[in-house]
Amino acid sequence: MQNNPDTTLITATAPVATATHGGRAKCLQRLVRLDLPVPRTVALSFSAVHDIAQGHLPDIPAIVSQFDPTSLLCVRPSSEDPDWGGPGAVLNIGMNDARFVELSDRMGAEAAAALYLRFVQTYAIHVARLDPDVFDEIEADGREGLRQSLRAYEDETDESFPQDPGEQLAAVLRSMARAWEGTSARLLRQAKGAPADAGLGLVVQEMIPGVGQGECGSGVLQLVDPTTGKRQITGRYLSQSQGRDALGAGAEALYLEKDPRGVSLEDVAPEAFAALKQHAALMRQKLREEMQVEFVIENGHVHILDGVRVPRSARAALRIAVRLAEDGIIPPQEAVMRIDPHSINELLHRQVHPQARRDVLTTGIAASPGAATGKIVFTAAEAQAGAARGESCVLVRRETSPEDVRGMHAAVAVLTERGGMTSHAAVIGRGLGLPCIVGASEMEFQSKARILKAPDGRVFRTGDILTIDGSTGQVLAGEPAMMEAALDDSFQTLMAWADAERDIGIRANADTPADAQTARNFDAQGIGLCRTEHMFFDPGRLTVMREMIFAATPSGRKAVLERLLPMQRDDFVQLFRIMEGKPVCIRLFDPPLHEFLPTTRAGQRELAEALDIPISDVTRRVEAMSEYNPMLGLRGVRLGVTVPEIYDMQARAIFEATLEASRRGEPVVPEVMIPLVSAKREVELVKARIDAVAAAVASERGQEFDYRLGVMVETPRACLRADEIAHCASFLSFGTNDLTQMTYGLSRDDAGRFMSAYVRQGVFTEDPFHVLDRDGVGELLKLGVERGRRAKPEVTVSVCGEHGGNPESIAFCRAAGFDYVSCSPFRVPVARLAAAQLAISDKLGVSAPVNRYI
Ligand code: PEP
Ligand code: MG
Repeated sequence: MQNNPDTTLITATAPVATATHGGRAKCLQRLVRLDLPVPRTVALSFSAVHDIAQGHLPDIPAIVSQFDPTSLLCVRPSSEDPDWGGPGAVLNIGMNDARFVELSDRMGAEAAAALYLRFVQTYAIHVARLDPDVFDEIEADGREGLRQSLRAYEDETDESFPQDPGEQLAAVLRSMARAWEGTSARLLRQAKGAPADAGLGLVVQEMIPGVGQGECGSGVLQLVDPTTGKRQITGRYLSQSQGRDALGAGAEALYLEKDPRGVSLEDVAPEAFAALKQHAALMRQKLREEMQVEFVIENGHVHILDGVRVPRSARAALRIAVRLAEDGIIPPQEAVMRIDPHSINELLHRQVHPQARRDVLTTGIAASPGAATGKIVFTAAEAQAGAARGESCVLVRRETSPEDVRGMHAAVAVLTERGGMTSHAAVIGRGLGLPCIVGASEMEFQSKARILKAPDGRVFRTGDILTIDGSTGQVLAGEPAMMEAALDDSFQTLMAWADAERDIGIRANADTPADAQTARNFDAQGIGLCRTEHMFFDPGRLTVMREMIFAATPSGRKAVLERLLPMQRDDFVQLFRIMEGKPVCIRLFDPPLHEFLPTTRAGQRELAEALDIPISDVTRRVEAMSEYNPMLGLRGVRLGVTVPEIYDMQARAIFEATLEASRRGEPVVPEVMIPLVSAKREVELVKARIDAVAAAVASERGQEFDYRLGVMVETPRACLRADEIAHCASFLSFGTNDLTQMTYGLSRDDAGRFMSAYVRQGVFTEDPFHVLDRDGVGELLKLGVERGRRAKPEVTVSVCGEHGGNPESIAFCRAAGFDYVSCSPFRVPVARLAAAQLAISDKLGVSAPVNRYI
């Protein structure tokens, strides 16, 4: 059999590989090579198992002959990736009447009967495929239970229970092979990423009976805590000899010192315990991974049945990878490759505890990660009042507008009925690091009645407790246990290693000093997008912004702009100072009017007071200014072209702030960006005025300064005409939010209503506002970059839409030759890690995450 790779005894040199025999078989061979006390094991290859499913059994007597005839056997699955699952293990094969008599002498009749009974029932249900109900009525255990179970088996199958170990083994192998090839198992593993033709290997292993005079029992042990990744011995041990669960089986911990009941494995079998720790450390060193050791202790001697990669939380994964690298077991590059960038969110935000029970009301779009629990409030004012009382509030709105921003600041989470990944609530939520779910359209939002109705009919009112899991999009009733954010030294270390490899820049979208500080804390290389209109979301300022939009005469507008100028200048000085010489890209106003017109009675009254006009004038003007398609209306550069004094004021504020911030520290070179461009002439008009403002400021102050003027490419036409636009621009920053909206003709604010149905039915593989659509939007990006660079090779190209923080989209941007991506501050670490992995992949020819299997 040694020469037959399809059924091979696992020895140090046997031809066993993960790709042909599965991860478990390969791992067992590695343990054998380490001279660990592994029971005899035969590995069946994928092709052998496939043949078995087709009805062609291997040489069963040859397999059986590999083992001591008095021993029992077990069969376990060995798929290529442990995550793909496989049929459950079958233990105690070979148990029959004769073996029962023998074992009764050694371990007592009741214990032997219990063993036989378990085998009979497992075999009956999983191999003979009897209905589990058959055994429901058998209440007796021990010998009587065994007698009744054997009788039930005979009644159901009209056959006596098979006594021949070879026959039993053949049947077990056949049933496991067929289970793997069944449709539901296939679909299940395909959902986990397995290829359609993924193979299954099986391992047949000699069982260690674990009976004798000395300490006997079984358990698992690992050297780390799987939740935190900290160095701590954890596991379970069930002692047979102690006649009870001596060391915390069922409980989580196996104690190094004495457990609360005053006994530990170290007490009852100190040598075995020491050996186990040594074996686990050797496995860590040689298999280059934290391993969970499955063991049996027989008469005080340790046997290692299996080793699997310790299952772990995201934070544990990071700590484990960093420690392996710090201990010199793996190189830092590999530690970087081992961490899934998507999982970083779990470290940056509070999360629902993985073991907590979830009472899911509905699932919306997971717009901003992290989880928070609070009392329901239906207005921003209630959120502020709640926060003032020290209460945590979840702000529930049909959708949000600038009037809600103060309430969003005060709330611990936000839930909206409408919207998509780039709608107002989503963008602001991500900026604030606030858990947010949008597009929860299966819930009924009755804001006036202050009622929220779940799809199952449950009704929630003001003050009821809700949990928002912005990482999964689940809206949960009540207050599940939480796990805190965990930014520790391991995180910083891994990020530093990642930055050393990365070859695409990562900036942050930051609108306020607080955002900029977060961006700095996460080591962003600059600000890639400051949405200046967002600086006016603060209610104290919102009215001034509205006054500017409302101003009907040039003199009225001039007066408002004079009030806005110092506010903007102060904002920019703060941003420049926080960023300490790193680039700051300031986008000129791009207010979609519907976001800024007052919609509530209170907002309209406030504006009427500020303008000293009757409220009816305000409502009339709101109606007059309302647009059918505000996202395609008087936005961005269109405002700059039609009311140029607004951009003049902003340019002046930027340049005056530049001079002020440059007086202390690094000279600032601001980047000024023109939004929503579709024609070269728009850029020419705005550029001429901005250059003029720059010249005026320089001559007034008697001081020269540099600045860069760029264009936001976010309309399909701007992509197509990127060559002529690039002539007038130092940089082109692609706004993939609007570009996606306009390429699909799909409203970014309304997409949430049907996005899940579209993804479910496979119309879109992913929400294109979340993961960049390579085929359509991506084509436009490539074309824009290529045409822009052809016209001006030195032009800087970047992406500043939300896609900039998505690992899959970063891969596209890097391949398309972008200089940097910019994303919301909390996504900066995700982007840094994803970008580093892409660079390492190219260098080493491996793909991340690596080493999911040993
Ligand atoms: C964009 O359109 O991609 C963008 C970044 O701008 P905004 O989301 O502000 O429209
Ligand atoms: Mg845009």
